[in-house]
Amino acid sequence: MTGAVPTDIRIPPVLLPADGRFGSGPSKVRPDAVAVLASLGTTLLGTSHRQAPVRALVRRLRDGLSELFALPDGYQVVLGNGGSTLFWDVATFGLIERRSQHVSFGEFSSKFAAAASAAPHLERPDVIEVPAGTAGAPRAEAGVDLYALTHNETSTGVVTDLRRPEGADDGALVAVDATSAAGGVRFDPEQVDVYYFAPQKGFASDGGLWVAALSPAALERVARIAASGRWVPASLDLSIAVAQSALDQTYNTPALATLVLMVDQLEWMLAGGGLEWSAGRCDRSAEILYRWAESSAYAAPFVAKPDERSPVVGTIDLEGVDALTVSAVLRANGVVDTESYRKLGRNQVRVGMFPAVDPSDVEALTACIDHVVTALS
Ligand SMILES: *Cc1c(COP(=O)(O)O)cnc(C)c1O
Repeated sequence: MTGAVPTDIRIPPVLLPADGRFGSGPSKVRPDAVAVLASLGTTLLGTSHRQAPVRALVRRLRDGLSELFALPDGYQVVLGNGGSTLFWDVATFGLIERRSQHVSFGEFSSKFAAAASAAPHLERPDVIEVPAGTAGAPRAEAGVDLYALTHNETSTGVVTDLRRPEGADDGALVAVDATSAAGGVRFDPEQVDVYYFAPQKGFASDGGLWVAALSPAALERVARIAASGRWVPASLDLSIAVAQSALDQTYNTPALATLVLMVDQLEWMLAGGGLEWSAGRCDRSAEILYRWAESSAYAAPFVAKPDERSPVVGTIDLEGVDALTVSAVLRANGVVDTESYRKLGRNQVRVGMFPAVDPSDVEALTACIDHVVTALS
């Protein structure tokens, strides 16, 4: 619809959200966190990541996540450069022993499966495909040593319950892509061995980093594969990342601003009351969004089953009005990144409702959409 946007539609200022960022990643960064970043502009920024001030920051990140997720004893928070996409390669080298199973129900869950499929040192993975807009569960299978799940499928707005498959081989790991879920969705850490994500979604920071909470079984797997002599490029070597993280460092230079913003968001969540509190904010936003869609004449939640509807990324189908035009008009009014995931190919808007987003702004967004749709018809 580029070129055909009715730019004369002005949304009345009283309807506008206080903050117009509804992206599903990168997502809204809290202005308070940016102020903290600015306050460190001549002290922490531009200083060595091998010295105490930055290492103390990494320490706060690791300890803070252990507290937020209530990680059991023996779990370790590990981090490195490259984001969640890079972590799929890290896991392909350092976590899958021979064969993985992937539950694939959207763009992001399919990508780890593709990485494992292409690896010459692994057997062909088992891929369970379920239709976009629904959730799938892993199925225990002999010979599978890693089950790959996605906590929240960002391309479709589907959230899944994390549970170990019953009857899996002894020692099989459960690895969860929590890139868009982490910090906004509750989970039981006992059900997972690897919970990995990047900071530009629920942690309201910039991209470029991967963070993973590893269980004792996962740490043992990492050590065993490292000792096996498998060739692994150093930048993708999880055993190096584990060792560096234990020293509150990364293998190579991280973006300090990303760390500062993430730690600020993490400590904001902890101060508010922890995961229960931040997930509760997302629940409130989601209730507002889905309830509005269900009572709307032209909108409906894309995900059919209410308990599979994501509390952090809402996907809303529109009927009788072009969703891209709606998103473009919103954008022209400063309300941005409501466009749907392009490859999903639906006439829909997608709304990031991460912890940093105020539920009242989601409410305002629904009023803005109503205004735009009325003006367009
Ligand atoms: C955004 C996203 C990714 C990709 O994250 P990058 O940091 O850009 O690599 C992977 N998985 C999920 C579920 C995501 O939402």
